[in-house]
Amino acid sequence: MQEDATTYCLTLFVTEAMRVAVGRLGVVAIPAGWWVYTGSARRNMDARIARHLRREKPQRWHLDYLTSDSRVIVVSVTRHTEPECQRNRRNGGVVVVPGFGASDCAAGCGSHLRWLGATPDPITAGSAGAAVGCSLYPLERGHPCT
Ligand SMILES: [Zn+2]
Repeated sequence: MQEDATTYCLTLFVTEAMRVAVGRLGVVAIPAGWWVYTGSARRNMDARIARHLRREKPQRWHLDYLTSDSRVIVVSVTRHTEPECQRNRRNGGVVVVPGFGASDCAAGCGSHLRWLGATPDPITAGSAGAAVGCSLYPLERGHPCT
């Protein structure tokens, strides 16, 4: 674990296409498949990540609306010293939900939630896609590939 990490990435697997009300974004369509979310926590990174892994919580961040849903599985969590937006862009994928997790993004990322596709493609998904696969075990809950 990187002691000075302030950026984290959550790789998510969405088991079926869904429509979810996400705070001020309204109802958004979420395709099934692999996603990567990039966030930052300058302090209390462990607590933030533990929160993302809990189903039950007050819905505060955009991501809470997804991680509260039983159709969304957190497959892996990684920590980085790289700035949040830089990491987000390097994760590749495509913007499906504009503005998601990017309320205070000044770098023009478009979204801090990126869709990697129904099956991860290391070429289009970039480094996050390359890190995703059936060799990875989720931190909790069932493995999406079994
Ligand atoms: Zn950004």
